Formats: sequence, C-alpha cells, structure tokens
Amino acid sequence: MIYGKNVVIYDLDDTLYNKTEEFADLLDSTMAKALIEDLGLKMDFEEAKRLVTESFRIYRDGGEIFYRDYGINPRDLFIAYHRRKPVEKIVPYDNLLDKLKKVPADQYIFTASDRYASDKILKHLGLWTYFKDRCYSVEDFGVYKKNENAKVYHQYCDKIKVKPQDCVFVDDSYSNLECAKAAGMTTVRIYYKNNSAKDNPYIDYAYKGLMSFLDTALSGAI
Ligand SMILES: [Mg+2]
Repeated sequence: MIYGKNVVIYDLDDTLYNKTEEFADLLDSTMAKALIEDLGLKMDFEEAKRLVTESFRIYRDGGEIFYRDYGINPRDLFIAYHRRKPVEKIVPYDNLLDKLKKVPADQYIFTASDRYASDKILKHLGLWTYFKDRCYSVEDFGVYKKNENAKVYHQYCDKIKVKPQDCVFVDDSYSNLECAKAAGMTTVRIYYKNNSAKDNPYIDYAYKGLMSFLDTALSGAI
C-alpha cells in the first residue's frame, strides 16, 4: 500500500522520465514544426514556437492558442505532434524498472501521449513489457487531454476495475491532479525546480523528482 491505497497510477511524460529545459524547448520546436509542416499553418517558425511556449504557460497545452485563434483541429495536432515526438532524446532514469517492481501496489500509467508515442517512450525507458497491459492513453477514452474534468478519471477506474478512492495519482502537471482529486484520488505532484503549486488544496503530497517519491515509497515510510 502507498498512503493506504493499493493502486498507483503514473503520468508518463515528465513524470516517469526527468524533465529538462532542453527537452521542453525541443518539444516546443517539435509542435511548431508539426503546425507549420504537417498542418499547413502559415506562420514563421520562431513566432509559432513562441506561441506554443506561451500557450503551454497559460493553458498547460501548447496547442490551445492554435485551436482557439488559428482554426487548428486538436485531433490533427495531437496525431502530428506525437508522430514527431523526439523520444530518442529522453534520458531514462537508472534502475527505474527495478524500483518500480518493488513498489507495494498495483501500478498503471495514464498518459496524454497517444498510443504510438507512449509505446515508443515505454520501449525507450525499458518499461514496455512491465506496463504494456497497464498503460492507457487519453486516446483510449476518446479525448486528447486529461485536465478538463474528472470524467476521464472515473472512466479510467472503470477500465481497470478499481475505485478512485483506492488510487494514488502521480503527475508533474497540477492541472491533471486537480481533475484526479475531483474524481476522488489521492494526489502526488512530481516537481523539478520548486513546488510552485504547493498551496493548491488538490495536491495531497509533493516530491522533488520521481526518485524521491519512489525511494520514500520503498522505505516503507508512506
Ligand atoms: Mg506530464
């Protein structure tokens, strides 16, 4: 059990691997390229990248400004962006699988990446075999985000046949945790530089980096 719960559900991107500023910047460039080269957005690359960064800062979604103001279809960007995602640039944690195997709970992944990208990421991280039947994408629930409302968290629980109250949800993005909390889950935020959302009532616990959470979990302290 972790915090008295027998299920832990992890976010994938920026939670099960370390987020770096370089990688975040590369993802913004990747989305700008997908918008211009795949979806035909008529915009200078630097301006598109600047708007992706701004959109992520404001809406926690790099595409939101483009859906609202430039007629971009969210599904089209979702697919184009994930096809281009530079998975090979992700630096995996050492010994992550060994640690995860020791966590005293059933473990799952719920990702906002699509199936194509999440399979590639799991293979790159050495986690594919372990999670292949316990990883679901927003795509599996017919949505593109997991920070809009609690509904998709209830659907996730129905899929894996557990109650939200029996789950700990671990995510770097506090907007996702707000919805997980609204569904009834216990929430853990993984942060990197500083815990900017620490006063938000929907965050139950916070750890600096995944390893600090896992090491605490394996010590039996939680
Ligand atoms: Mg994330």
